[in-house]
Amino acid sequence: KERAQNFTFQTEVNRMMKLIINSLYRNKEIFLRELISNGSDALDKIRLLSLTDRDVLETNPDLSIRIKAEPEKRLLHIIDSGIGMTRHDLVNNLGTIAKSGTADFLSKMQDAEKSNAQEMNDMIGQFGVGFYSAFLVADKVTVASKHNDDKQHFWESDASAFSVAEDPRGDTLKRGTHITLHLKEEAADYLQPDTIRALVKKYSQFINFPIYLWASRTETVEEAADDDADADKDADEDAQVEDAEEKEKETKKTEKTVWDWELMNDNKPIWTRKPSEVADDEYTSFYRTLTKDTSPPLAKAHFVAEGEVTFRALLFVPRVQPADSFNRYGTKTDNIKLYVRRVFITDEFNELMPNYLAFIQGIVDSDDLPLNVSRETLQQHKLIKIIKKKLVRKALDMLKKIPDDEYQHFWKEYSTNIKLGVMEDPSNRSRLAKLLRFHSSRSDEMTFLADYVARMKPKQNHIYYIAGASKAEVEKSPFAERLVRRGYEVLYLTEAVDEYCLSSLPEYDGKKFQNIAKEIFDLDESEQQKEQLEAYKKQFEPLTRWLGQKLDAYITRATVSRRLARSPAALAATAFGWTGNMERLALSNAH
Ligand code: ADP
Ligand code: MG
Repeated sequence: KERAQNFTFQTEVNRMMKLIINSLYRNKEIFLRELISNGSDALDKIRLLSLTDRDVLETNPDLSIRIKAEPEKRLLHIIDSGIGMTRHDLVNNLGTIAKSGTADFLSKMQDAEKSNAQEMNDMIGQFGVGFYSAFLVADKVTVASKHNDDKQHFWESDASAFSVAEDPRGDTLKRGTHITLHLKEEAADYLQPDTIRALVKKYSQFINFPIYLWASRTETVEEAADDDADADKDADEDAQVEDAEEKEKETKKTEKTVWDWELMNDNKPIWTRKPSEVADDEYTSFYRTLTKDTSPPLAKAHFVAEGEVTFRALLFVPRVQPADSFNRYGTKTDNIKLYVRRVFITDEFNELMPNYLAFIQGIVDSDDLPLNVSRETLQQHKLIKIIKKKLVRKALDMLKKIPDDEYQHFWKEYSTNIKLGVMEDPSNRSRLAKLLRFHSSRSDEMTFLADYVARMKPKQNHIYYIAGASKAEVEKSPFAERLVRRGYEVLYLTEAVDEYCLSSLPEYDGKKFQNIAKEIFDLDESEQQKEQLEAYKKQFEPLTRWLGQKLDAYITRATVSRRLARSPAALAATAFGWTGNMERLALSNAH
């Protein structure tokens, strides 16, 4: 047999381990979640492979995760029949951190380390700390793994370095991975069946493979008092037959300890159940296992879509949008996991949600997609477009249904997404417009466009708005001033994206938008007022002509207007030109 080869961990792994140990000492229990989730990933992988090559399962058709404790030796075993790891995999996957963005994560963590522990815990929680969390509870970890393409190998580490060798016991696993944790003394509680059951329920109840625990139960069995006597009797057909009464006296109840694999999770996918039969807290814990978010979701939708394509979906809106979402905006990452007939296909498909809805987390499972094709072929599949279209509609419905008191929070987190949606998704523009909220001259509360329209004056044809840097600034605008004084409501657009958003929205409920900082303006005026304006225009023609000539380099024209209340003059944009606010934004972006 070859001698074990020794390796050192990649620097990032050492940093990661230090970080895990330092920050998660109060939350050690998550190690089990991480190891089970790795087992589940490995099972997903072999099942996916089996779709195109049925033979891969022959080595072991059973797909499960099994947990076994050996209290006397303080050992905890986690065994899966997943894809397994080759020698090369063991060295690379359990010696380096391959995940993209890890370096980034580590540096952020180090910043957080200086600020506060809670923030750090949240970040780790969302990132998922992975395999190395085993060292939270173990001072030694061994991994035996059998991949279809290699002999069984044995990995071993005490966290400072690791070794890999061909397993001297041979291929004892038919296929899969057997992890053994040599638990630290203070972690002995994780050997208790009740502790293990509770952790599986808390973190892993929605894993789509059976998770078993090697456990004993006491069975009460009624048996004859004297087995040997019975046997003798059977052997000797001529023996005296005892009468029934006497026999009853001789049977006794015995407590027997039976060891067996006990199923710990309900591995029927939650989305395949009827929505009416799933409790709210089940959705919440499913959401938590899906996202590792600690808060409950802000909204959810669970439905079956039928018609051109049948699929089930479960969608969630997280309470908080990750801080760096917009830096990654447009990099095409959605948060939808795709299943075909309950088989996990991929979470990197990115064809199921548009950019602006990338924050939505969820699952789609369709019976109508082909199982036995590659991800690339699936991408081209015509049904994918139809699924996406329906999914977006349902997602927007879900947002529409968020109750008022929660909507404020939603809007604080996601307003920019919705506004970008108005700009980027013409086919859903009117649905998105219903979700928009703006400040207005009416009160401190933001208003939906529908409510604005309901309050419009009888003869008012346009929705009036003005854009600027802040509510305080636009409130003082001479354009707004006069309108508000005359009892019109004006929307105050104070976010950079607002004005662009409305420029791509031709109308709402049949009402066009009117930027009151622009020239075209149709206050419903009486004939008399219009005549008076014409008269003023004539009267001041020499002045406006003179101003026009003097300011030729800066303005398009000077004209008499009735738009102002107290200010003698104002600069207005032309109907199709940029407004002052857009100029301001363009300038500040350029700098
Ligand atoms: P992640 O699961 O996020 O990739 P982990 O640290 O949990 O990160 O695991 C690192 C890698 O080790 C996995 O990506 C996988 O390739 C491999 N691995 C870990 N556990 C198993 C297992 N039980 N079976 C097969 N491969 C595994
Ligand atoms: Mg993992």
